[in-house]
Amino acid sequence: MNITDVGHMTEDDLADGGGEDKMELAARRLKEDKKSGKVPEGAVDNADDPYQIANYYTQAFLNDAKALGLKVAFEYPDSMPHATQCIDIMQEMITKLLANGHAYQTDTGVVYFSVESFPDYGKLSGNTLGNLRGGAGGRIDAQTAADKRHPGDFLLWKPDEKHLMKWDSPWGKGYPGWHIECSCMARTLLGADVIDIHTGGEDLTFPHHECEIAQSRGATGQDSFAKFWMHARFSLVDGQKMSKSKGSFFTARDVFEGKVTGRNVHPAVLRYELMRSHYRSNLNFTTASLSDAASAVKKFTDFANAAKQACHDQPAEIDLTHPMLQAFTESLSEDLNISGALGELFAWSNDCKDEPATIWAACKQVDRVLGLLDLKDQSTSDFDATAACTQLDEARANKDYATADTLRKQIIEAGYDVLTTKQGTQAVKKLA
Ligand SMILES: [Zn+2]
Repeated sequence: MNITDVGHMTEDDLADGGGEDKMELAARRLKEDKKSGKVPEGAVDNADDPYQIANYYTQAFLNDAKALGLKVAFEYPDSMPHATQCIDIMQEMITKLLANGHAYQTDTGVVYFSVESFPDYGKLSGNTLGNLRGGAGGRIDAQTAADKRHPGDFLLWKPDEKHLMKWDSPWGKGYPGWHIECSCMARTLLGADVIDIHTGGEDLTFPHHECEIAQSRGATGQDSFAKFWMHARFSLVDGQKMSKSKGSFFTARDVFEGKVTGRNVHPAVLRYELMRSHYRSNLNFTTASLSDAASAVKKFTDFANAAKQACHDQPAEIDLTHPMLQAFTESLSEDLNISGALGELFAWSNDCKDEPATIWAACKQVDRVLGLLDLKDQSTSDFDATAACTQLDEARANKDYATADTLRKQIIEAGYDVLTTKQGTQAVKKLA
């Protein structure tokens, strides 16, 4: 995973990414958010400094990722490079592409990749150079169009003394195109000309991944760049694309803090909701589906924790020959068929004849994939549910039923289920 802190333009959907630098856009947004008090005090001193902007949004992303139990960013900090730390390797690759005829410099000094020099350009996304020639018209200014050999040629380096972020280069002080960073970082950090798996959102297939393939293969001479491409489909909200203007664009934090459903949501619930759809189908986020996710998480965690208690946390020795684990992993081996895998898990737990020690061991194995058992509640509240339960029991003992009733309502309003047990009243935090 890499952090793109330079080179993104607002028209990245064009191979030649024109428009405004996204860092300038982010600076404006950040200043507005600072004014309206959305940015914590002291988080950003100077909202015009692109490094501070990048750091602010990177930290927000990492905090959400951590809350959701995503591992990569935390266990491998060295493998989460910033594009701005890799300008030298980008310049090396551009030099190579110029030398072997895959790139050229225009009279105005701009360096482009020549798509006509790479016959496989378009293979990943199903584009042809012919339809790219037609489709690119209209959104590129006349000077750029005249400079390029083919309208599909994309930027490798742009000399621009006035740009927000700029570096010295053999082609003048300027900045790199945004595709080149990924080719360079993947090769250098993963240490291979051909990598195993490249992931990304479906919107990155073209132009971004198409351009990465052309640059990498142009530079390495290999006949592939990644053995597998896995493109995740967009998440939808109520059946529609997420949209800022329609108010249906949420961050993970918004969901945790109850800004979406009016109730705090445990990260395990959002994690389950996000992972239960197959990566090649659109996830449709709705309030109802989130509440289904909460029921599923509760069912699994209650089942696992009851077994853990019953066996005093002494899991049995277990391996993948256990029938549920075998079925679960077989489903996942079929192009990550997660719904099949979850189906196997719940079919087993609904009618389980295993000993608690075996159940606990199997749940722990499954949780290496699901990652639900150890996630921490993110909601912050001063409400002391345990104290309220004690007061409620005292009120009942004193036959002060009015106070007991008031306390019960308070506990429920704070987001708990109230259970009457032999040991007294217990409050169990609702997951969503
Ligand atoms: Zn990339």
